[in-house]
Amino acid sequence: MITGQCRCGAVTYAMTLDALPPIYACHCHICQRVSGSAFSVQALVPENTLTVSGPVFVREIVTEDRTSVQRYCGECYARIYNTNTRRPGIAVVRAGTLDRSEELVCKAHIFTDFKQQWVTIPDDVPQWGEFAPPDEFVAALMR
Ligand SMILES: [Zn+2]
Ligand SMILES: [Zn+2]
Repeated sequence: MITGQCRCGAVTYAMTLDALPPIYACHCHICQRVSGSAFSVQALVPENTLTVSGPVFVREIVTEDRTSVQRYCGECYARIYNTNTRRPGIAVVRAGTLDRSEELVCKAHIFTDFKQQWVTIPDDVPQWGEFAPPDEFVAALMR
């Protein structure tokens, strides 16, 4: 079982996974603005492995070709995960909310065209300037 929580601890979650999931970093401007940081780190996990408890605040973001449903802690508003109608059944978990996050391994970087210049990515970690082709991206995460 893999577990995590928000900053204040009101929202906790558990995933029926045997090991910490692979994570990737996104350097796009949306991820920078929403996190207030240089990039976001996220894990893609089957939504049906995830059980969340606590006061979750849900916000739907509708754009022309998709609806993104963001879940936050309703007390401290830390972002926990989102789903997206373009990827049904997949939860995008904010990796910094995972317990044992110091053990995570970042397997890929996307939207590096927008990367802050002080961030150095190891040469052996796959990276793409914008979106990664889905098959190459999955292969990188599973590597
Ligand atoms: Zn909280
Ligand atoms: Zn992004």
